Amino acid sequence: MMINENLTTPVTASCDVLVCGGGFAGIAAALSAARQGKSVILLEKSFMLGGLGTAGLVTIYLPLCDGCGRQVSFGIAEELLRLSISLGAEDRYPDNWLDSDDPSRRTAQDKRFQVQYNAQLFAILAEQLLVQNGVRILYGTYAVGVSKGEDRIEAVIVENKSGRQAIKLHSVVDATGDCDIAHFAGAPTENFKQGNVLAAWYYSVGQNGYKLNQVGAADIPEDQKTPGRQVQMLVPRRFTGLDGEEISEMTQLSHAATLNHLLKKREMDENALPVTMATTPQIRMSRRIVGEATLHDTQLHTFFEDSIGMVSDWRSRGPVYEVPFSTLYSAKVKNLITAGRCTSVTDSMWDIMRVIPCCAVTGEAAVTAAAMTDDFTKLNVAELQSVLQANGVILHERDL
Ligand SMILES: Cc1cc2nc3c(=O)[nH]c(=O)nc-3n(C[C@H](O)[C@H](O)[C@H](O)COP(=O)(O)OP(=O)(O)OC[C@H]3O[C@@H](n4cnc5c(N)ncnc54)[C@H](O)[C@@H]3O)c2cc1C
Repeated sequence: MMINENLTTPVTASCDVLVCGGGFAGIAAALSAARQGKSVILLEKSFMLGGLGTAGLVTIYLPLCDGCGRQVSFGIAEELLRLSISLGAEDRYPDNWLDSDDPSRRTAQDKRFQVQYNAQLFAILAEQLLVQNGVRILYGTYAVGVSKGEDRIEAVIVENKSGRQAIKLHSVVDATGDCDIAHFAGAPTENFKQGNVLAAWYYSVGQNGYKLNQVGAADIPEDQKTPGRQVQMLVPRRFTGLDGEEISEMTQLSHAATLNHLLKKREMDENALPVTMATTPQIRMSRRIVGEATLHDTQLHTFFEDSIGMVSDWRSRGPVYEVPFSTLYSAKVKNLITAGRCTSVTDSMWDIMRVIPCCAVTGEAAVTAAAMTDDFTKLNVAELQSVLQANGVILHERDL
């Protein structure tokens, strides 16, 4: 059954760049656009910045280095890492990177350039940084659709406490993590075929102090599984992250897994208490754009003329990937660009690109581009690269 609604939606705001989603990708994006003097609105459906990296309690900022002593991700990716521990690290403080200029200490045996930060502090510090830079943040604001011309988005339709409204824009950054805007706009997208295993990361206090409990291990993509190696699943079920009913069921299962874990903990530590649990679904991969190019995990150490920065592989030491600009957009919707965990990658590359430093790298690049044009098919990539380089980004592995 269908209900026909007759809607007249007021336009309540307009901006040069609309960033949809305030996770690490959206924060990097909004910051970069505002610094280029553009009017920026950042809309976020929850009431804090950071997405999975704060509300999702995923507080490990994975490495900016290749694990062999070379830093590969720079610019806002490094700025946000440093911001995240500016009032103290929660754990995993890499003194070889943060306190030492001695490159000989940055060896494969030493710590990688990654930190564990406090979610709430980061969310507040990121909010202050964006506001100081002139970003207008709209919390509690859900993007629910788009108003589209032939191959461009004219406005994004949002809903919040004031009701349904439209925001007009020149260009849009889809940093929703789930590629919602591209999906609404009819850009080509692809879903994560394998589905996500259940996770229930939460914090507790007890005799060992304040602790992050990483309940529910990261999955291994189907094509990389060693025969016989089993993924330990909390429940025998996988989740797409794209269905309202399913997300609610997953959330309840995640809460139950938290309780089970805590009760087991209490067998050793009777006063253990949970202090915070995720307020956003802990979904690793859901939907991504099918861009003009798609990055594959076999393309490590490959030179790309249109590279916008580099990332490493958090799972192993050595691999370095240049990220092509053409993986961020589809020519089907000319003023839409993606950032974060919804850029164009193969399933096996997705597991590498979905993590926080990579999201910050694509966030900075996407919006630097969005501030320069409202038609990504016509962007002068060399100009984009010059701006990124001026902001401290190193584009190619040969330049490290
Ligand atoms: C269990 C788990 C463990 C992980 N472990 C690590 C780890 O140890 N280290 C690491 O670096 N990474 C880890 N990751 C991955 C990493 O946390 C995320 O992939 C990364 O933070 C994603 O950033 P993002 O900005 O692309 O997306 P998100 O963090 O998902 O941010 C998207 C934001 O957009 C908002 N949003 C979504 N849809 C809409 C809409 N329609 N309208 C308005 N707002 C919207 C959301 O509320 C959210 O704030 C883990 C992920 C999971 C699930």
